[in-house]
Amino acid sequence: MSFIRKWLRADIQAIKAYHVPPAEDMIKLDAMESPFALPDELIGQYLAYLADAQLNRYPNPGAEELNKTLRDLMSIPKEFGVLLGNGSDELIQLLALACEADDTILSVEPSFVMYGMIAKFTHLNYQGVALTQDYQLDLDKMLAAINTHTPKLIFIAYPNNPTGNTFDRKSIETIISSTKAMVVLDEAYYAYAGDSFMGDIEKYPNLVVLRTVSKIGFAGLRLGLLIAAEETVAELDKLRLPYNINTLTQVSANFLLTEKDEINRNAAIIIEQRQILSEALTNIEALQVYPSQANFILFKAPQAQALFDYLKANGILIKNLSSAPKLADCLRVTVGDHAQNQQFLQIVKRFYHEQ
Ligand SMILES: *Cc1c(COP(=O)(O)O)cnc(C)c1O
Repeated sequence: MSFIRKWLRADIQAIKAYHVPPAEDMIKLDAMESPFALPDELIGQYLAYLADAQLNRYPNPGAEELNKTLRDLMSIPKEFGVLLGNGSDELIQLLALACEADDTILSVEPSFVMYGMIAKFTHLNYQGVALTQDYQLDLDKMLAAINTHTPKLIFIAYPNNPTGNTFDRKSIETIISSTKAMVVLDEAYYAYAGDSFMGDIEKYPNLVVLRTVSKIGFAGLRLGLLIAAEETVAELDKLRLPYNINTLTQVSANFLLTEKDEINRNAAIIIEQRQILSEALTNIEALQVYPSQANFILFKAPQAQALFDYLKANGILIKNLSSAPKLADCLRVTVGDHAQNQQFLQIVKRFYHEQ
């Protein structure tokens, strides 16, 4: 037996590593990235800005300028605190680290897989409460599970990944006010949704909102944020590793994220493309398309695996969820730019002999 096999925790050995498929030269519609690159006319200015970064020094520990940039970009009220993470994944982990041994993390299923993974990494219990058949919150089931398991943390992705929908607001409010848990509304897709819980932080002391710049065009920066009552942020900040936001990210974000109009314009294009793509998929007889408030669309497809393979053979990578629990025959496609979406559609139609 190898050294690491003898040494490593059995539950970690049993995990199948998160597989990121190679995507070289493919049209990448699998990971909710933005299709829009930095505009050419900004590149020169950006490089000049980067040249001032002092890479022999540690990053600015409090990242105050970046904090202000994000507050402006997302219109975060000044009375709320903001905690920055190396992606919102890091902030999910930080919240798990704030829990005690034997605490329970509760979420819904299907949802973002990292909630369960991070619970496992940090030796916490995890409870997944099934969504209804059409991927809505099952409020009775949620309240029963909260009663039985008294979770310490509840994660609700809003809109949800991988289903794309938002849940009933009233149900979420009921959950927040009927638990002692911290309720984390994960708004990774806020830019594509018609609603947000950020304004509710004032009303509910146990409410925390997570956001990220990954899904609005800057996945490569690795930058997420937690928005909550100022005192909540001040306490959680003790768990943050020093200098977690590196200098290149801080400098880049301070330059790129001040382009608020450009970012909003790109989000509007994606919302428009989502509508076009969703209608076109709905018109394909074989498919069942789920409503989306995010920059991706979940759809149920007969012969999902074969369609996924056919797309891949034709240079388009999407996400195959067909073997995941409660997602039988389901595929998830990220909304790309017009040309990418049309290319994707053409191949799907060809697969089902619809053209
Ligand atoms: C993509 C995603 C994240 C992770 O965001 P990063 O900031 O890139 O770590 C978190 N939550 C949900 C629901 C997501 O879909």
